[in-house]
Amino acid sequence: MRHCNIPIFIPHLGCPYDCIYCDQKKISAQIKAPDDQEILPIIDQHLATIVRPAEIEAAFFGGSFTAIRPDLQENYLRLVQPYIKQGLIQGIRISTRPDCIDDQVLELLHRYGVTTIELGVQSLDNEVLRQSGRIYTAEEVERSSGLIKSGGFQLGIQLMVGLPGDNYDRDLATARRTVALAPQMVRIYPTLVLAGTKLEQMWQDGKYQALTLEEAVPVCRDMLLQFAKAGIPVIRMGLYPGEELRKEGTVMAGPFHPSFGELVEQAVFREQAIMAVRLYQQHFAHGEHLTLCINERDLSKLLGKKRSNLISIQHSLGLQGLNVITFRHEERDWIGIGNDPAGVDKFVLTRSEFLNSPNETSCRRQDFQAQKTNLSSDLYTGGPVFVSKETGDKRI
Ligand code: SF4
Repeated sequence: MRHCNIPIFIPHLGCPYDCIYCDQKKISAQIKAPDDQEILPIIDQHLATIVRPAEIEAAFFGGSFTAIRPDLQENYLRLVQPYIKQGLIQGIRISTRPDCIDDQVLELLHRYGVTTIELGVQSLDNEVLRQSGRIYTAEEVERSSGLIKSGGFQLGIQLMVGLPGDNYDRDLATARRTVALAPQMVRIYPTLVLAGTKLEQMWQDGKYQALTLEEAVPVCRDMLLQFAKAGIPVIRMGLYPGEELRKEGTVMAGPFHPSFGELVEQAVFREQAIMAVRLYQQHFAHGEHLTLCINERDLSKLLGKKRSNLISIQHSLGLQGLNVITFRHEERDWIGIGNDPAGVDKFVLTRSEFLNSPNETSCRRQDFQAQKTNLSSDLYTGGPVFVSKETGDKRI
């Protein structure tokens, strides 16, 4: 069933810490935490617009919920109880720090029907945590994750890439260590330099260099692939591009993009398409004019903005022409290939085959389940798209 969060932001409330990158007030676009009179209308407004059927959680985001005074926590949680009793809301989600979890805290959350706990972990590298002012260690994260899971809660892990002291290998190691925690979901945020933070000062002083968009996308792509391989959904990549974040002078540096997650998905499709073409050429036929087949709902991820992804795939493989045919199909994330634009005989590389083939040179024919498949012609929904190698023009 579709999942829906009703977000209730409680910026910086109860947080005695000062992580170098954090300006919660800007991220959550609010000056103060909402009071009781504001929270109920937020819930009612969302409930009025959510399309059913849906599993709905009231989600207290923004601060470190379990660092708030227990009586305030109870006050917030109590407000949601009538909705849970009426069956309008199925649970409560909170976000907090890994070092603000213990048995007593979990007992209170359990009593009020909290179902999901998202931990702002950011990194599982102790040096990165230290340089970012996070205070706790990776071992503490493992301990609190264990408590959350054995307490019967759903566990979410929030990670950041591009923190001080961070690099590609450390991010990938963090992803591997996160997989071992077996969370139910992950979010990945590239570090942004926000005005007024300690990180901004470091950046101004030349002590911190922010990731570029071109650097952040491949890191997140490879982390995403690790999570996908382990069957762990990544439910968000990149900060929500709210009005406050888009205001001039808010983001001083860093890989900010309003559709960051889409860019990462496009990068995954690019890699998968390149592998599919190489395997096709290796095992079935060579050809400088190929036709890619794809679920119509994945088309934008394959094409990229102004077909930049497709052009890049075409150029990196030295193809003269690349057609795309879309199919209406239940399965997502597969790429079919043929050199017949009519779309009859196809080689198909699914996402799981792609994920389980570590690299194309180690991918022998018997190592993957790619099939030479007939995609039935009644699934055909679109005309071929021709991308000119020279101009990138599209002809349908
Ligand atoms: S713990 Fe969270 S809210 Fe507190 S300073 Fe760090 S990032 Fe900001």
